[in-house]
Amino acid sequence: MPAPGENMRINGDRLWDSIHEMAEIGPGIAGGNNRQTVTDEDGEGRHLFQRWCEEAGLTMGVDEMGTMFARREGTDPDALPVYVGSHLDTQPTGGRYDGVLGVLGGLEIIRTLNDLGIKTKHPIVVTNWTNEEGTRFAPAMLASGVFAGKHDLQWAYDRTDAKGLKFGDELERIGWKGEEKVGDRKMHAFFELHIEQGPILEAEGKDIGVVTHGQGLRWIQCTVTGKESHTGSTPMPMRKNAGRGLALITELVHEIAMKHQPNAVGAIGHIDIYPNSRNIIPGKAVFTIDFRSHLMEVIDAMLNEFNERAPKLCEDIGVTLETEIVGQFNPPAFDKNCVAAVRNAAERLGYSHKDIVSGAGHDACWINDVAPTAMVMCPCVDGLSHNEAEDISKEWATAGADVLFHAVVETAEIVE
Ligand SMILES: [Zn+2]
Repeated sequence: MPAPGENMRINGDRLWDSIHEMAEIGPGIAGGNNRQTVTDEDGEGRHLFQRWCEEAGLTMGVDEMGTMFARREGTDPDALPVYVGSHLDTQPTGGRYDGVLGVLGGLEIIRTLNDLGIKTKHPIVVTNWTNEEGTRFAPAMLASGVFAGKHDLQWAYDRTDAKGLKFGDELERIGWKGEEKVGDRKMHAFFELHIEQGPILEAEGKDIGVVTHGQGLRWIQCTVTGKESHTGSTPMPMRKNAGRGLALITELVHEIAMKHQPNAVGAIGHIDIYPNSRNIIPGKAVFTIDFRSHLMEVIDAMLNEFNERAPKLCEDIGVTLETEIVGQFNPPAFDKNCVAAVRNAAERLGYSHKDIVSGAGHDACWINDVAPTAMVMCPCVDGLSHNEAEDISKEWATAGADVLFHAVVETAEIVE
């Protein structure tokens, strides 16, 4: 099977115009977007995407989680489809490109194939996963998680937002609860194009990130218990200061992550301290550690060291430590053939590229468990995302979509 020629390119202007037309729906307050999942704005964005898909001759399927699957037929009725996509929902103060680039990049592939009159053996399905962001309804990557069998459908429907509204009710209200059973589709492969959301590609002047792994994580909730007492009258030797436990563990987490550079990160994000009063020695500190790595052995090593050292640190200062794992996700290694298709595409098209690890979670990380999967990344300015100031250049978007195009079309096999 011949690889697509390097002269085959997507239409970068058309892709760019579509991205900015989509951004007019659910505008933010500072040039970005507020198109949160299963809101009226999300519904409107879906209708626009559906219209574009129909204009490109695609057939739309919608599953019970509201995920949209727009299909271009292949020539072999028995061939499984190649899926491509990302998400159209945004953070409340989100950018124009996070997720949107991957969905509309997929649509641009179809439009280009139509322009060039190219048929593929495998069907190609452009996908918009529901609720990737997880801000309104936690957790993130909700629909792809149900698709991959990680969550139960009813459990997902019962997720509530800050107002107490249920995900399932809101999905129904905006009219996008489909009939199709979630996870029934079998995939030949899945490809996702996404902005990097980190600073590496821009700093190193690379056009394309070839994503080989995602990060795994462990969230450890810690409760340090001491004794509340007066900050003025309690003698220093008699204090049981939970704040010191927090301080020692904060440093320990940093030290452990630093030992595994550049393959690990670690920090304490969420902290509650009790009673949080100026003249009371803290009696209790509750906080969550977030350790991440793309290597399972590094995650295990960090946890082991933490479990060995943290209780002793607390004991030495007269406080106690209780820990509980409240989040875990093993690091996904993307499919070697799909990753090679992305790398070869970048090479063939003459784009500079680099193998990278995805720091953030993506729908592709769940789908990787049920189908051969890979991701393409393009740079973003200062590595910034989840911010209305998120920015990319038209050239970066074009390069990313070109590489996506070649990887998808090579996998879907052009029919001569
Ligand atoms: Zn995203």
